Amino acid sequence: MIYYKSTEEIELIRQSCLIVSAALARVAELLKPGVTGLAIDAAAEQVIRDHGAVPGFKGHNGFPATLCISRNECVVHGIPDEVPFREGDVVSVDCGSIKDHFYGDSAYTFAIVEVSKEIVQLLQVTNDSLYLGISQAIEGNRIGDIGFAVQEYCERRNGYGVVRELVGHGIGRKLHEGPEVPNYGRRGAGAKLKIGMVIAIEPMINLGVKHVMQSNDGWTILTKDRMPSAHFEHTVAIGKEKADILSDHTAIEVAIKNNKDLKEISKKN
Ligand code: MG
Ligand code: MG
Repeated sequence: MIYYKSTEEIELIRQSCLIVSAALARVAELLKPGVTGLAIDAAAEQVIRDHGAVPGFKGHNGFPATLCISRNECVVHGIPDEVPFREGDVVSVDCGSIKDHFYGDSAYTFAIVEVSKEIVQLLQVTNDSLYLGISQAIEGNRIGDIGFAVQEYCERRNGYGVVRELVGHGIGRKLHEGPEVPNYGRRGAGAKLKIGMVIAIEPMINLGVKHVMQSNDGWTILTKDRMPSAHFEHTVAIGKEKADILSDHTAIEVAIKNNKDLKEISKKN
């Protein structure tokens, strides 16, 4: 089911998204070798609660934490644990919040130095593909235009695996609303994009094959070939000439620049 939002409701979603962005910026300050996922999770939850919001993922379908922390061969939905981060880890962090009944949702993937050139390239291409997808999120286009832009760039131009089983989504009073927003597709196919639609666009891109599997914990999604994976996400409102990006990665990127243990990712767009 697609729920169309009023301007006021979109502003409420923006507020929720900005709280998520603040939590992810805190993650970018703290992430370094030796720190645990549980410690990062507690810090992110504190940021969310300090803003008068509630973690959006905790308790959602029984998920136990504020953050999904997905390391290396984990694609998404990793559960924060006590295993310290190490040099060379690729760490995808996904965060949601609920503020004034509306969800915010955003994700970023961090690389703890030193990392290989091919990891840096994977992160850059995945992040750039997010913005290529967002550039298609305009009135009159279709869902398939977003997926096509992401797939074309990641799969055909860069030879990466685009995950099929997990997709972006509409978002609002529910974390997952219609329509589904796949990271693959055909131009001009799928639901028509209209003003009032708010969607989370979230490329999940594998260095190796596109195939994934679920781990025994019932949550974590792993790459089948155990190669690393990256994940970047923004919540956006469909715009007339250009999408309105409701989440914001600026503070995250500033924090990465100031954290000597994290590798900076340059942006194309
Ligand atoms: Mg997310
Ligand atoms: Mg999402």
